Amino acid sequence: MAEVVLHELVKTYPGGTARATDEVSLEVADGEFMVLLGPSGCGKTTLLRMVAGLETPDSGQIVIGGRDVTYLEPRRRNLSMVFQSYAVFPNKKVADNIGFGLRVHGVPADEVRRKVDWAADLLQLTPYLDRYPAKLSGGQRQRVAVARAIVMDADVLLMDEPLSNLDALLRLSFRAELKKLVNEIGVTTLYVTHDQVEALSLGDRVAVMREGRIAQCGDPVAVYTEPADQFVGGFLGSPPMNFLTGSVTSDGTRIDLGGQTLPLPRALESFRDSELRLGIRPEAITIGDGLRCEVQVFEPLGSSTLLTTKLCGQVLKVQAPASFRAEPGQTLRLRLPPEQCRWYDPETQLLVE
Ligand code: ATP
Repeated sequence: MAEVVLHELVKTYPGGTARATDEVSLEVADGEFMVLLGPSGCGKTTLLRMVAGLETPDSGQIVIGGRDVTYLEPRRRNLSMVFQSYAVFPNKKVADNIGFGLRVHGVPADEVRRKVDWAADLLQLTPYLDRYPAKLSGGQRQRVAVARAIVMDADVLLMDEPLSNLDALLRLSFRAELKKLVNEIGVTTLYVTHDQVEALSLGDRVAVMREGRIAQCGDPVAVYTEPADQFVGGFLGSPPMNFLTGSVTSDGTRIDLGGQTLPLPRALESFRDSELRLGIRPEAITIGDGLRCEVQVFEPLGSSTLLTTKLCGQVLKVQAPASFRAEPGQTLRLRLPPEQCRWYDPETQLLVE
């Protein structure tokens, strides 16, 4: 069993004012693919480097497979890492690059060859085993780095933005390959990215980080559809979740968005006479009947059409079908399906319903 348990990890860099990680606790199950997602500087890499043993936490505990490794040297943790700068040895052929770690660990030559062939096959590198890295594309080189990590039979695989140096198209195809690969080998994986699509597509679970803390951790669909706070709703999705502020009527049954009202779920009656914030995804809104808005910007995006509208003076983005046409200044009616509406406390910005 190689579950990874992080317990209240705190890390402050010398000279740093804020904590890079602030009492982060996280449990990654054996064989689980956990993605750490968040904006630049939120502490993802620091967390990964502490698991790897490349940084020592100020306090807290790291347990891998039941063993406390908090202060253990990196090479005794039985994990392998892939970084964004695909660090391959330029003077070694692909096969020697992939087998390098095994040979360092004194694995017999025939065993090394067997494992290299296995990894090369999984990563479609077999035709390139005798080439030098200079003769490979960026995507192939990155596959070599991944192959080198997976042959090690590590308990845990750590990856820090492994796709970020690839161009958009390569990223897309390699993402799918990586997903297939990790499913096949079933190794416990911690994967750092700031790319939300990558996170949602790859992760069994996604931990969204903000300012050194985990804002929400869960199944990708749940994190996307039920953001625990406005930060998560605003970080995930392109365009992100819309937020509209309104005041709840004194009988607690409706919210007034500034001249137009919507019914409120029963559970929110206690917010009567106070402010509440509605969160709704642009693709959850349908055009036809309902609230009035004015089209401000019309953007055809190929597979859909993005409308920027104003509803009671508040900006609302709507993702419409590709065939939809509208003119700036035009009035539209929008339906905000109640089951797609999320409700946030404007003060705490936390999900309330
Ligand atoms: P990115 O996606 O930009 O790599 P990140 O989420 O991985 O960001 P970290 O690299 O973990 O974030 O950084 C977290 C915080 O710690 C940031 O405020 C950063 O400036 C600071 N930090 C990171 N490394 C060091 C260091 N070696 N010395 C001082 N401060 C550091």
